[in-house]
Order: sequence, then C-alpha cells, then structure tokens
Amino acid sequence: MIVMKFGGSSVESAGAILRVAAIVKENLTFGPVVVVSAIGKTTDRLLHIAEFAAQRDGQTAWRKLLALQADHLQISAKLGLTLGREIESLFRELRGEVFEIAECAALSPELWARVAGFGERLSSIIVTAALAKVGVPSKHLDARTLIVTGAGSEPLLVERYAKIRRAVSCVDRALVPVLGGFIASAEDGTPSTLGRGGSDYTASLVGAAINADEIQIWTDVDEMLTCDPRVLPGGQCLEGISYDEAERMARLGAKVLHPETVRPARRLRIPISIRNSRNPRHPGTRISAVSDRQGVVK
Ligand code: ASP
Ligand code: MG
Repeated sequence: MIVMKFGGSSVESAGAILRVAAIVKENLTFGPVVVVSAIGKTTDRLLHIAEFAAQRDGQTAWRKLLALQADHLQISAKLGLTLGREIESLFRELRGEVFEIAECAALSPELWARVAGFGERLSSIIVTAALAKVGVPSKHLDARTLIVTGAGSEPLLVERYAKIRRAVSCVDRALVPVLGGFIASAEDGTPSTLGRGGSDYTASLVGAAINADEIQIWTDVDEMLTCDPRVLPGGQCLEGISYDEAERMARLGAKVLHPETVRPARRLRIPISIRNSRNPRHPGTRISAVSDRQGVVK
C-alpha cells in the first residue's frame, strides 16, 4: 500500500482536484490511501475569520466566511458533485463556532483547532466525492477519530497506529480510503490538530501505521532543492536525500515538508517521495536511508 498526500495547492481548484483524481486512478494497483490538505489557502482564511470574530468585527468575519463558503460550493458544483447540503451544514457548524468566538471575544486553543479543522473536513469530503465521480470508488474516513493527540499537539504513540490500521483495513479493498490531514482529537474527544502544515505528518503517521511501501507528498514543485529558490537562486535539484538531511532541511525551514514527518517513516524505513501534482511524470525527490550527493551543502 502507499499513502498519497496532496497539499493545499494540489487541490486548490476543480481542475487541480481532477488532476489529483487522475493521479490516484493511475496508482490504484498500489493500494493508495489518500490524505488531503485544506483547499488552497483555506486554513489561513479560516484563522483570519476567527481573528476578526475575536476582535468583535463580526461583519468582516461574516463576509469572509460567506466568500469561503461560496468558493467551496463553486468548486463542488464545477466538479458536478451534489455536496451542497453537506458543505452548507459544515458552514452552519462553522458559523456557530465563529459566533461563540465573537461572544467571548477570545480564541481559545480549542476553538482555534475547531475552526482551523474545517478546511480538511471540507476538502476530504469533496475529494472523496470527486474520486467516485471519475470512477475511483472511495470511502471517507474521519481523521479526527483516528489521530489522537496528547497534552501538546503531539500524537499519542500506541493508540494511534492500531486505530489507524484497523480503520484502513476495515475499508473494502475495492475502495480508496480518503482522510483529511492535520485534524485530530485529544484523548477526551476535544478537537485538536497536528499544528500548521501538519497534513504531511498525518500522511507519515498513516504510512507508519499500515507499514506502507511508500509515503508520497504531492505538492507543486518538482523536487526538493539544495536551498530555497526564493532565498538563493541556483539551488541544485535533489533526486535522493537521506532521512537526516530531509529532517534537517525541514527544521531549517524548507517549506516542502513538515519537520515531524520524517521520524515515523524513518523508524520503519519507509521511503518518502516529494512529487509534483502538476508534473506527475517527474520522479521528484526520494527521501530514504541513502543520499545521492554526499558532501553537497543542502
Ligand atoms: N491546512 C493545514 C495548514 O494550512 C495543514 C496542511 O496543509 O498541512 O496548516
Ligand atoms: Mg505543507
């Protein structure tokens, strides 16, 4: 089995979601489990809404919320999906949370997690339906019931793997399981998250739980570079790097990978590939126990 995680830019529009569906369809023989981020910049937009509400600027919060709802409804309609009721019901729930934030004029960590999690709740139902629409039967799994976090936002070790493995193996082999990244619950069921950019981490936890053959992180660049092209042009492309190098680059701020992602994969020697959903023929960067450029400064 493989885990295929698609980031926000890979699902930013109806066209992008169709590209994702085609990529999943091509990989059916590998037994994919799909993990998705929120659509485009949805998480940032949700958190702006929450901040406006906390500052008692209900009008701006409302306007932004309606715009976000319209964007989701439009993507779903463009894909020809009949998800209007589900999307509206999630936004009704979101309005309730925003109302609560406005009332107490504060954003508690729990409300932050509740609001931030709507992006992946929405994107995961849209991608599940879009896959079915292009002939890839799929089943939505609620990641909040599978990824359990401890006192911080770190996931709990023993709990998590058994639960995820059971849920994924309960899905009929003919169906592709789809789950939202980033979202989780604390042990008492309170909504939580794995922190910003945490969908990569979800993918890696799921990969480790099912002992996947590969964890694929689909993004919008061909491969990892020796340095951030926005900071210093002329970085060299990396075909293969070691877990250590990848983790160090992620910790030093390489946006392409959440720093915690490497650890669960390394423990089980599961390779992680960074792939480009706009250029799926490109092999990307492979992160494993071996590196291809000994001595190159990365
Ligand atoms: N949507 C979340 C974020 O923007 C998680 C992720 O995309 O990895 O932080
Ligand atoms: Mg990311």
